[in-house]
Amino acid sequence: MRVEYDYDTCIGMFQCVAEWDAFERNEDAGKAVLTDSEEREADVFVRDVPDDAELDAKFAARSCPVDAITVYDDGEQIIP
Ligand code: SF4
Repeated sequence: MRVEYDYDTCIGMFQCVAEWDAFERNEDAGKAVLTDSEEREADVFVRDVPDDAELDAKFAARSCPVDAITVYDDGEQIIP
């Protein structure tokens, strides 16, 4: 499983931070930070999801009000 986080789209509501600890707050920027990710293209960050964090990652993606977090399973988009 893999997540993609769109920094540009994020509006800093921080629901994702409450769901999965891979997301941290950047209060100054008013944006979430996806830890241990790589910037695949400008402002789009990706990382693998550990097996034991799959549920948390899905909840984080579902909690985002602006769909800034996308979850892929075997290359198929499952959330949102
Ligand atoms: S829930 Fe969405 S809008 Fe809120 S901080 Fe996370 S990614 Fe950004």
